[in-house]
Amino acid sequence: MYLKGKFLYGEDYELKEGVLVVEDGEIKGFTNEHVEAENVGLAIPGIFNLHTHIADNCIKDVGINKSLDELVKPPNGLKHKYLGKLSREEIKEAIKEGIKELINFGSRVFCDFREGGVEGVKLLKECLSDDIKAVILGRPTYKGERVLNLSDGYGLSGANEYEDEELRELYKECKRKNKIFSIHAAEHKGALELSLKKYGMTEIERLINLKVVPDFIIHGTHLTEEDSYLIEKYEIPVVLCVRSNLYYNVGLPDLEKIKSIKALGTDNFMANHPSIFREMEFIYKFYHLEPKEIFRMATVNGAKILNLKRVGLIEEEYKPLFTLINPRVIRFSKNVLATIILRVEKGDLLNKSLNLLSK
Ligand SMILES: [Zn+2]
Repeated sequence: MYLKGKFLYGEDYELKEGVLVVEDGEIKGFTNEHVEAENVGLAIPGIFNLHTHIADNCIKDVGINKSLDELVKPPNGLKHKYLGKLSREEIKEAIKEGIKELINFGSRVFCDFREGGVEGVKLLKECLSDDIKAVILGRPTYKGERVLNLSDGYGLSGANEYEDEELRELYKECKRKNKIFSIHAAEHKGALELSLKKYGMTEIERLINLKVVPDFIIHGTHLTEEDSYLIEKYEIPVVLCVRSNLYYNVGLPDLEKIKSIKALGTDNFMANHPSIFREMEFIYKFYHLEPKEIFRMATVNGAKILNLKRVGLIEEEYKPLFTLINPRVIRFSKNVLATIILRVEKGDLLNKSLNLLSK
């Protein structure tokens, strides 16, 4: 397959124009031969949304001016009350709509914390589209539920909701089956205080103490110095969901304290639009990091965290996973990456499905 256009090439995202050869499911480099090629506009590495709760799409903005606990704390949070009343078909409709939104806003891979045990994972699987890859992290609704047979791993709500032994067992089960273990941690002050009160240590200290080293954690909004040290020492990646943190009014993470690999997620669909472009724009405007660093969080870092090999860059030997943009966006740009991060909107994305990852 030949793809013609502009490409953000290699680790340094050099803008190259030409005809890219894709063969046997991998990028082979550019060709100078005159061949018939498909026009892809501006191709950037596929965007990763590393943290969603997609079924919440059926209760958009139910949470205006409610606290995080009022909204999402299982089992009596508003979210659980509403979702409990909906039929299977209604939830599926909302999930399908959510998947369309992810695709239309450029995501090519998303990682969902799927609730509701085996049934919850099944629901999402029935809604998937070929245009996006889903990494599904489920959670058991009762002891011994075989969620891992269907899911890519566990995505747990928070350490405070589990006894020591449960955490150890769930982690061991994941590792035995070579699956992902992920958990929300240090999201808000209340979670930190509860952990200190109940266990005499922070959520992260407790996990490490139990020899539970998550493959990645979500949030890290309220990290202590010790947490920050442990995250660096055990190289625990952190998925940031800063617009979600703002929505719930829980504070914002101090990125200087997080010295491990970072990626981006948009969290609950009821609270946030799942656009990673919006997330990147916000991060630049609030934290003023280098555009390259932010762009990595939205692409190759996600691939690394999910352990997807040879994914996340447009480079020889990498798998062809692209988000396609109308090249008009970067006309007159003096900093292409910054322009992509700050200005791309839905109307700029070309919804041409290449779906080359699964081929
Ligand atoms: Zn979450």
